[in-house]
Amino acid sequence: MKKEALLYEKLGDKEVRCNTCQRRCLIKEGKTGWCRTRLNDRGTLYSLIYGEVSSVSLNPIEKKPVFHFYPGSLWLSLGSVGCNFRCPGCQNWDIAHWKAGSMYTEYISPEELVSKTKATGSIGISWTFNEPTLWFEYTLDAAKLAKTHGIYTNYVTNGFITEEALEIIAPFLDVYRVDIKGFSESTYSKIGHLKEFEGILDTTKKAKEYGMHVEVVTNIIPGFNDNESELRGIASWIRNNLGPDTPWHVTRFYPQYKLSNLLPTSITGLENTSVLGNSEGLWYVYIGNVPGHKRENTYCHSCGELLIERDIFEILRNTIKNNKCPNCSTMIPGRFKSK
Ligand SMILES: [Zn+2]
Repeated sequence: MKKEALLYEKLGDKEVRCNTCQRRCLIKEGKTGWCRTRLNDRGTLYSLIYGEVSSVSLNPIEKKPVFHFYPGSLWLSLGSVGCNFRCPGCQNWDIAHWKAGSMYTEYISPEELVSKTKATGSIGISWTFNEPTLWFEYTLDAAKLAKTHGIYTNYVTNGFITEEALEIIAPFLDVYRVDIKGFSESTYSKIGHLKEFEGILDTTKKAKEYGMHVEVVTNIIPGFNDNESELRGIASWIRNNLGPDTPWHVTRFYPQYKLSNLLPTSITGLENTSVLGNSEGLWYVYIGNVPGHKRENTYCHSCGELLIERDIFEILRNTIKNNKCPNCSTMIPGRFKSK
């Protein structure tokens, strides 16, 4: 559905400046922004994907991945089309790299989305698969409504949202699962076609300050972001700006799309990165996309007790009681069901 954008400026000659994401595209009349989902129609900016759902599924929150917010809970996950990065190794490139034309989407109103969430027994809604910022107006309306029904909300995002957009939606978002894909302009330029990436760090820090539960993912791509200084940069930034209790997921890259020629990330490389994360002061560093790896479990940061045993996205065991380690009574960061 076409809906007028919330965040843009009208300039001369019917040009507009979109202020939804940090690209802040200057869009001429009749043209769309970089994301292809925002159209300047005679000087008014419209989102073309309000409520246009390309994919919807029911998943445990572990699949996002989010490990410290009601582990094992079910969430309704949905995405639209388009992206403001278009990474060459994107695993959802078929929807994220949408090039205009037919969207193959289904319209789901915010009211219908909330009803579906309740009907499926989900405790929350995750906007995922493509960049949630792109359908900012829809996610905002649906998140507002979700909060009145006691439903949690989660943005699975590349963090390139503007500060003003984040400020508007912040009161209605519980979880901010953000990618920090690298720690240099050259990496972000190769992966996300960006000139500057510091704004992603700024908004992530804001999300934390707004009180959202933040977890960070870095997909380790061989030859792109797997050098030690870059990974150390990400880990130390998380520690110093989000806190040592922030979970960091280092996930295995599998050859995809335009990066089909690469090899998957080596297990040793992922293990070295997780050790590096710990040495930079992070308490919870998880290895993702390696089924059965012990680093997908949660161990108490204080005494090392195995707290949550996972098998891919399934919780085999969870011994956390009242948010505490049963062995040493240390508070475990995050939200866990009291037992
Ligand atoms: Zn303990």
